[in-house]
Amino acid sequence: MRALVRRLIDLLLDILQTVFRMLPWPTRTGLRAVGHPGPTSPVLVTGNYDLTVRRLLRAMRGQDAWLVVAPSQGVNVWCAAAGGHFGTHQVVTAIKTSGIEQRVQHRRAILPQLAATGVVAQDVARRVGWRVAFGPVYAKDLPTFLAAEQQASAEMRRARFTLRERFEMMTAWAAPTSFVLAVVFGLFARAWLIPVLALTWLLAAAVYLFVYERIPGPRKLVLAVVALAAACGYVVSIGAGTPALVGAAVMALGLTWLLSFDFTGSSPDRAVDHFDESAFQIGLDQDRCTGAFICLQVCPEGVFQRAEHQKKVELAHPDQCVRCAACIVQCPKDALYLHDGHGRRVEPDAIRRFNLNLLGRRAIDAGDSNGHDA
Ligand code: SF4
Repeated sequence: MRALVRRLIDLLLDILQTVFRMLPWPTRTGLRAVGHPGPTSPVLVTGNYDLTVRRLLRAMRGQDAWLVVAPSQGVNVWCAAAGGHFGTHQVVTAIKTSGIEQRVQHRRAILPQLAATGVVAQDVARRVGWRVAFGPVYAKDLPTFLAAEQQASAEMRRARFTLRERFEMMTAWAAPTSFVLAVVFGLFARAWLIPVLALTWLLAAAVYLFVYERIPGPRKLVLAVVALAAACGYVVSIGAGTPALVGAAVMALGLTWLLSFDFTGSSPDRAVDHFDESAFQIGLDQDRCTGAFICLQVCPEGVFQRAEHQKKVELAHPDQCVRCAACIVQCPKDALYLHDGHGRRVEPDAIRRFNLNLLGRRAIDAGDSNGHDA
C-alpha cells in the first residue's frame, strides 16, 4: 500500500513538474545512498532538480551507488550547466561538504554528460583530486554504462529530442500559458477563450512536434505569418469587427513570440535560433590534438570521429554542432575553439572562465563559479 501511494505521489509530481517545468524545482542537496553502496561503489553527481533526481533514482533501482546532489538552483542539468548555475564550484562544494570522501576509497565521480558544458573536469581534479567521468546523456542508460565499466556507446552519447521530450516541452510552454489566458479570457472575453487556447496549443505543437525544424528560412517569421493568417481568418469568418481583428493579430504575434522563444535551447538536440547560424562555428586545431577523445565523450551531437590512421579526432559533422562548448571546456590540450570564419576566435580559456556558449543567457561571472580563483 505504501509503495502504491509513493508511486502515485511520484506520478503526480512528474505531471506537475512537467507542466510547470519552467519553474525551478529544487530538491535537497547532499549525499544519498542508492541501494546498499560500499566503499568501492560508484559515485554519481547531479544537480538538485527534483525531476532529474527522481528519474535518476528510478533508473538506478536495483543498483548500489552513492548519489551526490549538488546545488543547481533547482534547474535541470543542461540549462543549469549552460546558464552558469551548475559548474565546477558547485561540484567541488558538494564533494567537499557531502561527506562522500569519508564513505569511499576511490576518488572518481560520474557526472551527467550534459553537465560538460559547465563543469571543468580538469579543474575538479586540480582542486579536490577527484577524477570526473561523464556518464551517458540519459539516466536510463546508467546501469548499462556502469556494467560496461563506465563505457558509453556512441548511441548513449547522443542527445535526442524524442517524442516524449517534445510532448513534455510542448506541455511545459502551452499549459502555463493556457492557464494565464484562461483566467484573463474567462473573466473578460469568454467567447474568445476556446479559439485563443486552440491557437496556443497549435503553435506549441508546431514548435515542438517535428514541424519547426522543417520550416525553411526565418522560422519565427514564417510561424508568425501563419498564426496571423489563421487568427485573422477566423475573425473575418465569424464577421467580427476591426477591434477584434486587431486584437487577434496582436494575440497571434504575441503567442508566436512567446511559444517559439528559445530558453537556453529547448533540447541539446536543437541549436537556439537567436544567434546567427553562421556567426560562430566549432573549430579544431588538429596539431594540438593528442587523442584524449574527451570531445567524443561529451559532444551530444556526434560532431567528432576518430581520424583514420591517427590518434586524433576530426570534425565529422560540424553542421550538427549546437555550440554548447562542452568539448572546448573539456579538451585538455585546448585544441578546440569557436571561430567566426573571419579569423576571429573565442579561445578555450575565455570560454571556461566566463562560461561562454551559444545556448542562451551569457553568464559572465568573473568570480570562482567555474573554479577559477577570484
Ligand atoms: S562540437 Fe558543438 S555540440 Fe559538440 S560538444 Fe562541441 S560545441 Fe557542443
